[in-house]
Amino acid sequence: MRLDAYGQLRPSGPRGWYARRTEAFARTCPFSAAALNEDLLAAALFPAAPRRDARIGRHIAAYVGWAAAGDFRAAGSSGGLVSWAAAALLQEGLVDAVAHVGGTDDGADKLFRYQISRSVDEVRRAAKSRYYPVELSGVLQEIRAVPGRYAVIGVPCFIKAVRLACAEDPLLRGRVAFTLGLFCGHMKSARMAESHAWQMGLRAADIASIDFRAKDPARPANWYTTRIGLRDGGERRRDWWHMADGDWGAGFFQASACDACDDVVAETADVSFGDAWVEPYASDGRGTNVVVVRSPQIAELLERAAAAAALALSPVDAEFVVRTQAAGFRQRREGLALRLAHWRAAPRKRVAPAARGVPPRRQAIYGLRCAIARWSHRVFWLARRLRCPWLYLSWARAALRTYQALTYSRGRLGAAIDRLAKPGQA
Ligand SMILES: Cc1cc2nc3c(=O)[nH]c(=O)nc-3n(C[C@H](O)[C@H](O)[C@H](O)COP(=O)(O)OP(=O)(O)OC[C@H]3O[C@@H](n4cnc5c(N)ncnc54)[C@H](O)[C@@H]3O)c2cc1C
Ligand code: SF4
Repeated sequence: MRLDAYGQLRPSGPRGWYARRTEAFARTCPFSAAALNEDLLAAALFPAAPRRDARIGRHIAAYVGWAAAGDFRAAGSSGGLVSWAAAALLQEGLVDAVAHVGGTDDGADKLFRYQISRSVDEVRRAAKSRYYPVELSGVLQEIRAVPGRYAVIGVPCFIKAVRLACAEDPLLRGRVAFTLGLFCGHMKSARMAESHAWQMGLRAADIASIDFRAKDPARPANWYTTRIGLRDGGERRRDWWHMADGDWGAGFFQASACDACDDVVAETADVSFGDAWVEPYASDGRGTNVVVVRSPQIAELLERAAAAAALALSPVDAEFVVRTQAAGFRQRREGLALRLAHWRAAPRKRVAPAARGVPPRRQAIYGLRCAIARWSHRVFWLARRLRCPWLYLSWARAALRTYQALTYSRGRLGAAIDRLAKPGQA
């Protein structure tokens, strides 16, 4: 897999390899119509899970909370529960290693990659959300080569890919003991990091490390700040709100596959973690997770840790979990149905295509988001090629102004759109 001109990972191989169709590949690609969907996979994996919900899948329990023990919460992007759970699996001897995403510090062309951590220290060092293209091939090879029990952390389509690979390969199936899912809005290209660097007066080559969610307990959790560590030892910070492309929902640098995604919460993972994007948690800068549990062993682990006050967990229902991801579910239910209806060769999804019933203004929002995602790659490519950051940044500011006017009625343009929109059509 190689980064392409848009900073997205693409397979690279001999021409004949691209041209050859194989049934096994079709069965293991998470976006293939020949692969089992999330419902079928979850039914086989979690047959005894007592709760079923069309949006968050089969589950045993759901919680809102954080890691109370140690500094997992302070070191994590959200409530630190993912790193805590990975560390607990290692400490309890339930796994020998964890496959997850850490920084590269060897001058590689990528800032992050999947790695295998075999100690709690290594797990802790790789905490934080990486909104950056990564791929699993190297760690899957290592899992196949080195006997042991592994936990794999990933966004929903990656966990589905691991499940499909396990279904094909008994060796892998015997070694992947647990999967830990991350809720997912969408994946970004490598250009987002470069764009943030540009907006701090830096070049991509200056970046030694990047944290897309530098934490400040004194400020709301949803005020994202990017912190860039510089090669000369210094650091720069900038709030997303002050960046030309700093509104996550506008879709800048989104991977195209995400337009065809219908799994928000990693429905095939043994346990899934996200951010509690509802009040009072969204305003709590220390960070708070929502958790959906599907494996009885993980359920027992979490309950035991909560009883020992290592975790602060309050039970919640599916409705609560869905509310924390309201925008993600709109985009991957109503928005997906609309996109599928307009797709010439629409992929087969669990959501049926439907163009009717979506108010015109919402249709415009979904359309604009797609356009921003597509054009951000192209305009950034041109600006990079011409070494003219202002070209991309001026375009991005205009795109963001239009998106926020349409979506939040912001500014004069927003007021004008409000006046134009007929009552009942907003
Ligand atoms: C691309 C992306 C989009 C996301 N979108 C949403 C969203 O829309 N809504 C929401 O609630 N949450 C979303 N999340 C999850 C959220 O950002 C937090 O990762 C999650 O809440 C866990 O926080 P934590 O403090 O418990 O994890 P931490 O303790 O910070 O640990 C995070 C763990 O995840 C691993 N990791 C980080 N990035 C990746 C990656 N790309 N692939 C595989 N492993 C990784 C790290 O190595 C670490 O082990 C997203 C995450 C990613 C990577
Ligand atoms: S939005 Fe869906 S397709 Fe895109 S990275 Fe997340 S899980 Fe994968």
